[in-house]
Amino acid sequence: MDEGELALKRERLIESLVEAGVLKTPRIVEAFRKVPRHLFVAKDYTDYAYDDTALPIMKESTISQPYTVAMMLEALQPDDGDVVMEIGTGSGWQACLIAHIVSERGKVVTIEIDMDVAEFGRKNVEKLKPNNIELVHGDGSVGYEKGGPYDKIVYTAGTPKIPDIVFKQLKVGGRMVAPLGSAFAQAMYVIDKVSEDKYEQRKLGDFLFVKLRGKYGWQ
Ligand code: SAH
Repeated sequence: MDEGELALKRERLIESLVEAGVLKTPRIVEAFRKVPRHLFVAKDYTDYAYDDTALPIMKESTISQPYTVAMMLEALQPDDGDVVMEIGTGSGWQACLIAHIVSERGKVVTIEIDMDVAEFGRKNVEKLKPNNIELVHGDGSVGYEKGGPYDKIVYTAGTPKIPDIVFKQLKVGGRMVAPLGSAFAQAMYVIDKVSEDKYEQRKLGDFLFVKLRGKYGWQ
């Protein structure tokens, strides 16, 4: 498939997500246009990059389904200038989408536990040369205190809980989106930090994500 065909398929995918009512906010829609998903899939999958499905990248890692990413970003509502932490870099696609949304006035810190996946993500991210993404190889289940505090935090792997250490890295007034649950079934939650020790949460729906590993994950 050439660039023209890929661009056409990308536009169709975006239209279908808008029609389905999942993609709404103009700057999020614009990010889907400007950060081409086909640059973030494994080579053999380029032709499928604009199908609305998750695709394998390597080992247990996947690039998330566009519908799911759209839903998470609409729930997260990153603002221009926000400092955002993403736990689970994977392909780097979602990190680049967020980087586009927060603009150069903001910053994205994204953490990947698997060294080979982190390297794959880094190579993908470099194709777009953003200067507001910090890629960290490490255990994101403990967050990344050095990069914070954060206006927004997003987990792209299913987690059994949100430990205090991560909650503390979110600013008061900040928001977190995370798939929470058991290893084999999670629901997506939006968690608003209303004070140092209080939060409000609402459930968005059921999803199945790659399992979070590390200290507060499933090892
Ligand atoms: N946002 C990604 C999807 C990532 S899939 C994208 O756009 O492609 C989830 C990723 O989380 C996997 O790559 C997995 O290796 C990673 N992961 C799992 N546990 C982790 C942890 N404790 N810290 C950081 N990354 C983790």
